[in-house]
Amino acid sequence: MFSLKFGGTSMGSAEAIAQTAQIIISHPEQHKSVVVSAMSGVTNLLISAAECATKTDKICYKNYLEEIKEKHITALDTLVTNKDLHTEGKEFIEKKLLGLSGFLHALTVIGEVSSRSNDEIISLGEILSAKLLSLHLKDINEKVEFISLENIVSDMFEHEHIKPDKHFFECFSHKLGKLLTPLLEENITPICTGFFGKIPDGIVNAVGRGYSDFTAALVGKACNATEIQIWTDVSGILSTDPRIVKEAHVIDELSFNEATELANLGAKVIHPQTIWPAVKNNIVVRIKNTMAPNDMGTAITKLGKNSNHSFKSITVQKDITVLTVKSSNMSESGILIDLFQAFASYDISIDLVSTSESSISVTIQNGHKNLSKLVTELEKKYNVEIVHNKSIIAIVGNEMLYNMGVAGRFFSALSNAKININMISQGANESNISAVIAGKDANNAVKVVHKEFFNTI
Ligand code: ADP
Ligand code: ASP
Ligand code: MG
Repeated sequence: MFSLKFGGTSMGSAEAIAQTAQIIISHPEQHKSVVVSAMSGVTNLLISAAECATKTDKICYKNYLEEIKEKHITALDTLVTNKDLHTEGKEFIEKKLLGLSGFLHALTVIGEVSSRSNDEIISLGEILSAKLLSLHLKDINEKVEFISLENIVSDMFEHEHIKPDKHFFECFSHKLGKLLTPLLEENITPICTGFFGKIPDGIVNAVGRGYSDFTAALVGKACNATEIQIWTDVSGILSTDPRIVKEAHVIDELSFNEATELANLGAKVIHPQTIWPAVKNNIVVRIKNTMAPNDMGTAITKLGKNSNHSFKSITVQKDITVLTVKSSNMSESGILIDLFQAFASYDISIDLVSTSESSISVTIQNGHKNLSKLVTELEKKYNVEIVHNKSIIAIVGNEMLYNMGVAGRFFSALSNAKININMISQGANESNISAVIAGKDANNAVKVVHKEFFNTI
């Protein structure tokens, strides 16, 4: 059994959806379950509609809903020729958007969007795209069933203390298995929404954008898949973001650990939570290109494969804030615990940490809603300094353990390009080295480091 996931671009237009359908139909694996993202841009439109309803001139949310409706109806007109199926699709789209319009109208009165409401709103993107793909596949006589996961976890939160942690997702995966296995046994392909919810704190806070990759990984675990395939708009995981270095090359194999590091350090191509469900059952995760299905893609396996290079890939994270806390005696017992507890109590997660005799610096995402409260609290005891708009550039790969001088070449490439380094950190398992630099230098830093190691222009 394979779990296949198709991203926003693979669902972005009638042509793209037809191509996605062809990949599903001609797939060599007989038993497969499909997970889809919203049509590209639709989740952003839904978020903008919610913002409009609560902030600006309120009524403008209707324009966003119109745009969403037109996008789906246009695709439906091309994809579904059977009259009954077309009517079913049209009525479905109209009914769902009417429901959302009523919901947004209510928000204009309330004036704010809770995480729960946000989940309610963004779930529509995946509901509409999954319905569209399932109708198209039915139109060409495939045995499929549309499965909306929008309410699948609600009864798992009866007890308030339950948090959406790993244990919770294991239980959720078990539930998914019970739902999908009977269909697979009857050779029916489930077409599932990449959105599952609605979870405490909201899916965007608890899981983050790009959550459909994680849904596909949980489906794969649930149904004992031998492979989880993430179909997207690039031919695999590349040596860096191709939007920055167009000569970036595809990496044919990565280990679970390397892929997790890459995703955590900003490689947008897979969501950071995609790998752990695969680890336990040793499921191969493969990244494939919907527009070039014959390309091999990247296989993510338990051990990966050593490459000829010193490391595999370069990542960059933008919009980073560096917070430095100074104290005359940093080594005094309890100071670090005190600081980390303060961050935890304001729900602010830390990415990199660097310490010296008199200070500790940490990086966090720009614009966290609790940052000013945290700073006020810390300033009661310490001297606090904040710098915004930084970036983190990192090199990732297991090979770094065995190759001498990689760090030296990394830092020299940056300094030769006159890029100042503010902070340095080496991951605990020595498979990444990260440097904090000014945000304005980020793209150039990626280019010069890629050139240094992979000999590109
Ligand atoms: P989808 O909508 O299919 O989930 P995403 O936009 O989330 O696709 O992820 C694919 C994009 O990730 C690519 O188009 C590419 O611009 C970006 N990307 C960033 N870093 C990398 C990388 N190292 N390898 C491949 N793609 C990357
Ligand atoms: N549509 C959602 C997003 O844009 C989820 C996904 O694409 O995986 O974040
Ligand atoms: Mg994605």
